[in-house]
Amino acid sequence: MAAIALARGGLRVSLYERAQRFAPFGAGIQLSPNASRILFAFGLGKALATVASEPEELIIRRGRDAQELGRAPLKSFMKARYGAPYLILHRADLHTILRVAAEKEIDIDVEMGTAVADFARHKNGVTVLTERDHQLEEHRVTALIGADGIRSTVRARMFGNDQPIPAERTAWRALVPADQLPEDFSANSVGLWLGHDAHLVHYPVRGGSVVNVVAVVADAWRATWSGEGWNAPGEKDELAGRFSAWAPQVRDLIDSLPSVTRWALADRKPLRRWGEGEVTLLGDAAHPMLPFLAQGGGMAIEDAMVLGRCLVRGQDVAASLRKYERLRRYRTARVQKEARKLNKIYHYSNPMASLRDTVMSMKSGQKIVERYNWLYRHKS
Ligand SMILES: Cc1cc2nc3c(=O)[nH]c(=O)nc-3n(C[C@H](O)[C@H](O)[C@H](O)COP(=O)(O)OP(=O)(O)OC[C@H]3O[C@@H](n4cnc5c(N)ncnc54)[C@H](O)[C@@H]3O)c2cc1C
Repeated sequence: MAAIALARGGLRVSLYERAQRFAPFGAGIQLSPNASRILFAFGLGKALATVASEPEELIIRRGRDAQELGRAPLKSFMKARYGAPYLILHRADLHTILRVAAEKEIDIDVEMGTAVADFARHKNGVTVLTERDHQLEEHRVTALIGADGIRSTVRARMFGNDQPIPAERTAWRALVPADQLPEDFSANSVGLWLGHDAHLVHYPVRGGSVVNVVAVVADAWRATWSGEGWNAPGEKDELAGRFSAWAPQVRDLIDSLPSVTRWALADRKPLRRWGEGEVTLLGDAAHPMLPFLAQGGGMAIEDAMVLGRCLVRGQDVAASLRKYERLRRYRTARVQKEARKLNKIYHYSNPMASLRDTVMSMKSGQKIVERYNWLYRHKS
């Protein structure tokens, strides 16, 4: 997204991607109005319409007995209130849309299988050292944007190689054909089930043919386990064991999962500085967050929009990057902190979990959404 924003602003972009190819990976992704409005502004609405859907509601249930705790309107409310839709889609489809849009830009060169290994700043810009098939190559560039994820090399070179902070939570993810599931799970809604020390989210993707399931459990003992990538295989029996005291629907759902992958969740504290000179960070490299607000991808999309506006040909590059960072630092730090708050709330043990459920059942659904007015109505 950042490459597209910069190229459309008249800059030449070389995109170095460590992976050999953009393989179909991951599972679902939710995009709230603050992010979807940017994709629409970039003319990607038509492509999105073919692969994304607008869920009717968010339905919150108690894990133990499936008791409904709340229902928040999404489809009828989000677009009317915030000017853009709440979308759910498969990550691979979002990736494809962005890749195709990038390929249409003649000013973007994509070099796959090419990792940024190091860089050096100097008077006339930055020299980037890349590695491809064990061959090192130098490139002279005017700016370097490290959009290389939670274990960013660019960030480590600037600010030291500290490790992400383990959240002591494991996210188990799966995709299930919708026709194998009861209506509770295949309806066009986002389902959020709350238990103690665990929660589960599900929503349909790909026109409702597949359901994305994410189950998050407290896992202090696995705090040091850190899977790389989206596809660390998981043991379904272990997952089933963690949900054995939940409602029969949830146990049946877990039983029906064809396979599961798992991901040890981690984040970092907000950074005071994102860059130096002609180098900056974007997305998870700058502000990795826990996924409980479903905003990590959205924040990267917002970053891209703002960066594209700040970094303009002919202007001082370092000053433009500092302006971009100033515009993004406070908001992304706030989202990082809010995600941490939800981490606590979603994983309370009893008696706090019971108290949470009671409070939740007393709130109107609309109030649950409106709590995040500041997040959803934002225009980057
Ligand atoms: C369980 C879970 C659910 C989530 N759900 C949502 C959601 O619903 N909505 C949402 O908005 N967000 C969600 N997120 C967060 C979202 O996935 C991330 O915030 C988002 O992927 C960050 O994008 P990024 O481009 O910054 O980093 P990444 O997606 O990590 O991409 C970084 C890229 O850089 C490449 N790379 C790494 N190192 C190098 C190097 N040295 N040189 C070159 N290339 C390199 C990698 O191969 C990768 O392609 C979720 C996350 C999790 C874990």
